[in-house]
Amino acid sequence: MAKYNPYDNVLETIEAAATILNLPKKDYEALKYPERELKVAIPVEMDNGDVKVFEGYRVQHSSSRGPCKGGIRFHPDVEIDEVKALAAWMTFKCAVVNLPYGGGKGAVNVDPKSVSRAELRRLTRRYTAMILPLIGPEKDIPAPDVNTNEEVMGWIMDTYSMFKGYTVSGVVTGKPIGIGGSLGRSAATGRGVMLITREILHRLGLPVLETTVAIQGVGNVGGTAARLLSKEGMKVLALSDVTGGIFKAEGLDVEKVLEYTKNGGMLSEYSQEHVEHITNKQLLTLNVDVLIPAAMENQINDEIVNDVKAKIVVEGANGPTTNEADKILASKGIIVVPDILANAGGVIVSYFEWVQNIQALTWDEDEVNRTLEKIIIRAFNEVWDSKKELHTTMRMGAYAVALERLCDAKRIRGIFP
Ligand code: GLU
Repeated sequence: MAKYNPYDNVLETIEAAATILNLPKKDYEALKYPERELKVAIPVEMDNGDVKVFEGYRVQHSSSRGPCKGGIRFHPDVEIDEVKALAAWMTFKCAVVNLPYGGGKGAVNVDPKSVSRAELRRLTRRYTAMILPLIGPEKDIPAPDVNTNEEVMGWIMDTYSMFKGYTVSGVVTGKPIGIGGSLGRSAATGRGVMLITREILHRLGLPVLETTVAIQGVGNVGGTAARLLSKEGMKVLALSDVTGGIFKAEGLDVEKVLEYTKNGGMLSEYSQEHVEHITNKQLLTLNVDVLIPAAMENQINDEIVNDVKAKIVVEGANGPTTNEADKILASKGIIVVPDILANAGGVIVSYFEWVQNIQALTWDEDEVNRTLEKIIIRAFNEVWDSKKELHTTMRMGAYAVALERLCDAKRIRGIFP
């Protein structure tokens, strides 16, 4: 079997959406190529005095609709085609929810658990210095992603500001509140997943109360989604982390699990009455109403797709479903709410953070949450209408909305020179 390449997935999806819309090739051809790709070497002085060199990337996929926007991930297996795919998904995500942004993504080949906090800080600062020519509040704005957090964003903001000679809070989003972060940002992606899950249940005429959910991932996205979904009255039957999953037929006590993981506990060692241990694969194939992959790419693939039993898949992660698996889910009548819509809550509130930074004012949390809901539900409605009008899946409906906006921008601007 050929090795999974997420960027091939993206190219195929763009082609499929363009075909549905009957777009001439010249309108979307440029979207198949990232505008810029930067690879950097990051020497880091380790605590024992040795020097270790890490490799990093920043890819700017598109700036047609505004500055590039997208997170930075720290992961030992990251490859350039993955970063290209993640950057392109950001372009489509920002377009589908109609933010004035393009898409970008960055990554460093590192397992943050294998380095000390001081090493990670030096690595982050040197990586920031290496990508400095590309980033800035008017051109490319990083944010958290897999294995990066507020603290890392604070280091990036400080490093960039030191180079400039003055504080530039709008260079990065997802910062700590004390240095220009937005209220509501850390919970925003999970909140968006909750809002979208509630909305799709309404649309399908299904009840919210007692709806059963399985979530792969218990980090910022999966953990917050679990908390908010259970507050809505849904039953979270299963959760997992990299070490494995846990399952309870009557529903997990989500707060208890999150308290445990917050203190560094591994789910493979979690022990409570009536809680069973399951593998990630078992989690993805549980008989639940809603399945939420909220970890990494390439999880619902040809190995497991035929065993997926959920009625609805809400993609909390970026790219969790391969194109082949997506077709099989559609043929089985399983509704998939695509990543570019389902996990857009994070970048929506990143946008609010950037707007607050540029205007030097702050919004209260209520305003953040209310405006997030307004934007994400409006996008949901547009995607739903597009799906109906084009007689297609929600993914294709979403890509169609985004692609039309992107092609419009390109057409209006024309090609320089
Ligand atoms: N990393 C998140 C994503 O994939 C957030 C990006 C952002 O806020 O810019 O959507």
